[in-house]
Amino acid sequence: MTATEVGTPGDPSLDLDLDRELDSFEDQAREFLEAHVPRTAPATAAWGVGDDTMSSYAKRSPAAEHDRIERARWWKRLEFDAGYGWITGPTELGGGGRTADHLRRYGELRAAYAVPSTNVYTISLGMVAPAILQHGQPQIVRKYVTAMHRGDLIGCQLFSEPGAGSDVAGLSTRAVRDGDEWVINGQKVWTSEAHHADVGLLLARSNVDAPKHQGITAFAIPMSLTGIDVRPLTMMTGGTEFNEVFFDDVRLPDSYRLGAVDAGWGVAISVLMNERALGTGDAFGLGRAVERLRMMASMPGLRGDDPVIRQQLARIITNAACIRYQALAADGRRKAGLPPGPAESVFKLANTEALRLVAQVAGEMLGPSAVADTGEWGTYAWGDLILTVPGMRVAGGTDEVMRNILAERVLGLPKEP
Ligand SMILES: Cc1cc2nc3c(=O)[nH]c(=O)nc-3n(C[C@H](O)[C@H](O)[C@H](O)COP(=O)(O)OP(=O)(O)OC[C@H]3O[C@@H](n4cnc5c(N)ncnc54)[C@H](O)[C@@H]3O)c2cc1C
Repeated sequence: MTATEVGTPGDPSLDLDLDRELDSFEDQAREFLEAHVPRTAPATAAWGVGDDTMSSYAKRSPAAEHDRIERARWWKRLEFDAGYGWITGPTELGGGGRTADHLRRYGELRAAYAVPSTNVYTISLGMVAPAILQHGQPQIVRKYVTAMHRGDLIGCQLFSEPGAGSDVAGLSTRAVRDGDEWVINGQKVWTSEAHHADVGLLLARSNVDAPKHQGITAFAIPMSLTGIDVRPLTMMTGGTEFNEVFFDDVRLPDSYRLGAVDAGWGVAISVLMNERALGTGDAFGLGRAVERLRMMASMPGLRGDDPVIRQQLARIITNAACIRYQALAADGRRKAGLPPGPAESVFKLANTEALRLVAQVAGEMLGPSAVADTGEWGTYAWGDLILTVPGMRVAGGTDEVMRNILAERVLGLPKEP
């Protein structure tokens, strides 16, 4: 056996160089964060310290909503211009051209700082921008993808309809070809952030004669086009996070098409896989909720010493740890270059199932103070999470649908009748 040559793969000095480069990247990123944002007080700093908000779907005044968007935009621009907004993106589109390791290091570092919430960009950057990048025509990629990563533009996902949710391939919004344009008519529903969006990722039926999965075309659609009407819907928290979107003879140039005509189902699948993989981070806020619950268990008068509550707490903490380890394994698969697959559905299901139990136990511990606002820190705020969990169990694929995917496509069980 010959010794590994210096400078070839397997040469340990290459690993050392990479480590040094990552360390220096991290030092610079730390300098950037220190210069612009304070460090976060840990969720468990002390009872009564900091913001007690438990849900991003909480009701907000118009001024608070405006502030949320402006702060998110300010932060995204600052981060992007400093080179940390799209770390793994291609340099020709303004990305950093760096590796998943750089992204992970920055993410871990940033978690220690009180950066503004950028939830308004979750779908935009997690689903819409990757689909445009992967399937868009070059001028549409140039028009949207960089500006979306800089936070200048926001995207929304126009998939679900009143008659097509779990079975999204059953959609009936029509796209009819007219020369170099398409004419769009129909309705979407539950479209998160559409009221802030500049561009939508639209699935529409382009061929009524083909089997349902083969007659769909995907488009990027500017939300300012004549004939698009966005109407916000109120959730049970009182917040307005999603919308109905109506299309009335909307004319869209063919250059906005993503992928081939009638091949939109392939685009949809890549988007849904990315959506389900979002759960591998702490996109659902499980870590924070579990920490808050642990803290509550040590407060006098909140049943933290009740053996049944303690048993449920142990189950929650164990489940959260299992999810973290599974996420690390998924991270490893991604680093090895494997795309997200049906197994990622486990994260969405595991997160929402764990959050359901967290909300239930919090409700049992708090009793009436979860639903009556006494002004006491960290109590009524749980009400928003209790009212948000059912929506989380539906958004991005319901628990039942996730179970079907796991059963049929991961475990190989017989298909449902
Ligand atoms: C907070 C929130 C945000 C959302 N944001 C967006 C968005 O930005 N863009 C977008 O396009 N959509 C969005 N959605 C819509 C979401 O994707 C759909 O609600 C979801 O796919 C379920 O579809 P549905 O509501 O039509 O329910 P249905 O599909 O009608 O399901 C009704 C019930 O039947 C069950 N069911 C359906 N099929 C099966 C089956 N095969 N086996 C077993 N049970 C089944 C379901 O689990 C559910 O309990 C959002 C939803 C929520 C709650």
